[in-house]
Amino acid sequence: MLKFYFGPMDCGKSTLALQMNYNHGRQGRRGLVLTKHDRSGGPKVTSRIGLGLEAIEVEDSLDLVRLVTSRHRIDYLICDEACFYTVEQIEQLADLVDEHGVDVYAFGLASDFRSVMFPAAQRLFELADEVCRLQVEVLCWCGRPGQLNARVVGGVMARTGEQVVIGDTDASHVRYQVLCRRHHRSGLLGEGTEEGPQDGPEAGSDETVQQLSE
Ligand SMILES: [Zn+2]
Repeated sequence: MLKFYFGPMDCGKSTLALQMNYNHGRQGRRGLVLTKHDRSGGPKVTSRIGLGLEAIEVEDSLDLVRLVTSRHRIDYLICDEACFYTVEQIEQLADLVDEHGVDVYAFGLASDFRSVMFPAAQRLFELADEVCRLQVEVLCWCGRPGQLNARVVGGVMARTGEQVVIGDTDASHVRYQVLCRRHHRSGLLGEGTEEGPQDGPEAGSDETVQQLSE
């Protein structure tokens, strides 16, 4: 079974990935946790609620079939940040499911800061047995569901640039912000709008996180 969970950043993907790994491990199943460009900057899956787990960093040259078959009995893979894998690696995930009986749970963004799909995410949409949109925790500043990631450079929403730029580090002036489709298209970032209209539930609600940690 190849399953792809997608959603904007901070929607609880990594938390769900870690929770899923815990649940499978408790049933005596053996798995590997893979990631790429995690927010911690190291080969680790970290979530905003502070859970963390050592993980294998997926370099572009890593052959995932070889990685799994070189180990003794792997039942499942948790693939965090799968949107940043190569398309070839997504094919390898499908091979692992079909030829080696491994269950693969992939997590990632669907689209980049321009709202264009990542090649790996597109391949996952094409190949996955099941695709699941995670839409719970994260809202645009206006209260609508946050669907798209905006790249903000020097306070302005960027429309062009490299597909992958790591932001939100101390040294960078690049950050990412989740917006609804309307405000992603208009480029309105809602700065200084904390006092603005608040029709929906508060942004950053911890509902999902609480459900997962029960
Ligand atoms: Zn909005």
